[in-house]
Order: sequence, then structure tokens, then C-alpha cells
Amino acid sequence: SGPLLQVQGLEVEFRTGGRVVHAVNGIDIDVRRGETVAVLGESGSGKSITFEAILGTLDSPPGHVTGGRAEFEGQNLFDLSPRRRRAICGDRIGMIFQDPLSALNPVYTVGWQMAEMYRVHRHLGRAEARRQSMDMLARVGIPDVQRRIDNYPHEFSGGMRQRLVIAMALAVDPALVIADEPTTALDVTVEAQILALLRDLQRERGMGLILITHSMAVAAEIADRICVMYAGQVVERGDVRTLFGSPAHPYTAGLLHSLPGVAAARHRRLTPIPGQPPDLAHIPPGCPFHPRCPRAEARCRAEPPALRPVGDGQREAACHFAEELLAAAPTAQQDEG
Ligand code: SF4
Ligand code: MG
Repeated sequence: SGPLLQVQGLEVEFRTGGRVVHAVNGIDIDVRRGETVAVLGESGSGKSITFEAILGTLDSPPGHVTGGRAEFEGQNLFDLSPRRRRAICGDRIGMIFQDPLSALNPVYTVGWQMAEMYRVHRHLGRAEARRQSMDMLARVGIPDVQRRIDNYPHEFSGGMRQRLVIAMALAVDPALVIADEPTTALDVTVEAQILALLRDLQRERGMGLILITHSMAVAAEIADRICVMYAGQVVERGDVRTLFGSPAHPYTAGLLHSLPGVAAARHRRLTPIPGQPPDLAHIPPGCPFHPRCPRAEARCRAEPPALRPVGDGQREAACHFAEELLAAAPTAQQDEG
């Protein structure tokens, strides 16, 4: 079977006050059933906007999809009416955000909001919706469900709220879950628990899971494959071990080398490489990373590198010198020894 979601050549622009912001510039991303893909990048790399564009939740105007396709379960979402797209996404795609309160209504009880998901998307009656809500809340690790189900969201801790949002996202029995920085607001212990929960649920249900994150540690912990984004483009993608073992793009390498240790890096923003990501209204010509790249040469300033298979073909990178970088890199094992 083909990919569950296949995004090809996606382009998104924002037009504000005479400026054209090129937020997403020809992105290819795919995820299969039963697979977790981490989309990794600094803030402003276009990772959230990519998925807002796909789901039709961009603020539009000023945001517009200006090119590309997003095939979900064999259908190009961009060919559908906004109404049809919302219906499909609501029934088949679960969303989890960094701030669980944004997904919860403060004036309704937890149980009412959960049951509503079952009633609207699965067309269950009141009693059955409540029964299934309890099962799901228990599954995501809410203690004392009999009592907690009649609480309001503010009566839950941050970690419990994120479990609640996960339960709500899964209530519709989605084929795909998209989680945007789901653990960024949580402390390290709770973060590890939430990631483990997501991983378990993903395996149990054979869903596709897309995890948007700025944290290499989070990506390494949960992903099968990784997509590294920079300036609205994918600069490297492939199997997680391959990529972190021997990066073929200087940006990925920079992210890795800047890590003092996985634990310490867990909550750090990805800003270890000198310089800033470009202003997306003025993306540098050639390779967008060249102003920050320690390996940049004249060619990099003139010619944009295409994303292409590198090395053993297990990964793709968008760098003119990816082969050289790979050849020069010590193996992961030597690095550790
Ligand atoms: Fe660096 Fe050039 Fe590769 Fe871009 S193409 S990442 S500037 S070496
Ligand atoms: Mg974001």
C-alpha cells in the first residue's frame, strides 16, 4: 500500500503589507501507516505551517497554498471543498498541540467534551459515548476516571491535560495523528511519559504519527524517520539511525554536534549554530543555509541544491557536498568511543 499522507512540492506564501513571506518552499513529506515521522526544525522553519496548510487551518488570507499536492488516503486534499476537507480531516486525522488548553473548552466537563467527539465523529449515543470516553481516558493514564470524568479542564495538571487531548484526538479512531510540539510545555519526566504513551498508542493502532518538534532528543526517541527542515525546505530526510549516525547535511551535523548530551538538550531550542534562520521574505539565493554554513563555497551562493538520494540511498540531502561530508564523517561508533 502507498503512503497514508504524501505531500509533494508544497508551497505556502503569506502576503502582508507588501511583503511576500515564502514560508514553505516545495516540501515533500510522506508517512505510512504504522510509522512515526518527526519533522524537526528551528522555530520559523515552516514546520507547523506545512501542516496547517494541509489541514486547511492556515489563517487565510494572508496565508495561501501556492503549489503542490497533499494526498491523504489517496485523495488530494487541495482538490476538496473546504467543508469536505474539514470533514475528512476531522474524522481521519487527530491533532495534538503544545498547549492543550487551546484544544479544550473551559466551560464543559472533560467527560462532556470527550463524549462529544464520539457523538459527532462516530455517531454514538449518549451512554455509549460516555462508556467509550471512560475506556479511552483510562487507556491514556487518567487515574480515578469515574470521578475525574466530571472535572473541568482547569482541574487537571498540564500532563493530565495533554493525556486528555491525546484521548480526544484518538477518540475519532484516526488513521493519522499530527502532534505539534506536544511535550514542549512539560517537564522532562512528564515529557518522557507522554512520548512513551504516544509511541504505544501508535503501535497498538497502527496509525501514522507525525511529530513536529524543535528537539533532536524527542525526534530520536520516538521517530522511525526524520525530516529536517530549514527555511521552508526539507534539507535532509531518512531513517533516524542513518541520519543521526552520520548526517549528510551540514545543518543536521551542526544540530548534532551542538548537543552536549541528549538529556541536557531535551528542552533546548535548536539555536546552536551561529547565526539566525533567514527572514522568509528574503531567503538567500543558492543554498538557503549558506550564510551559516561552515562549508559554504562560491557554488553554494549561486546554485540551490536539490534534495537527492545520498550514500547508500537510505536518506536524501539537499547539499552540493553531501557525499564529501559523509565520506569525511567518523562513524557513530567511533564518535562514542
Ligand atoms: Fe553548506 Fe553549500 Fe551544502 Fe548549503 S550546499 S549546506 S551552503 S555546503
Ligand atoms: Mg510551531
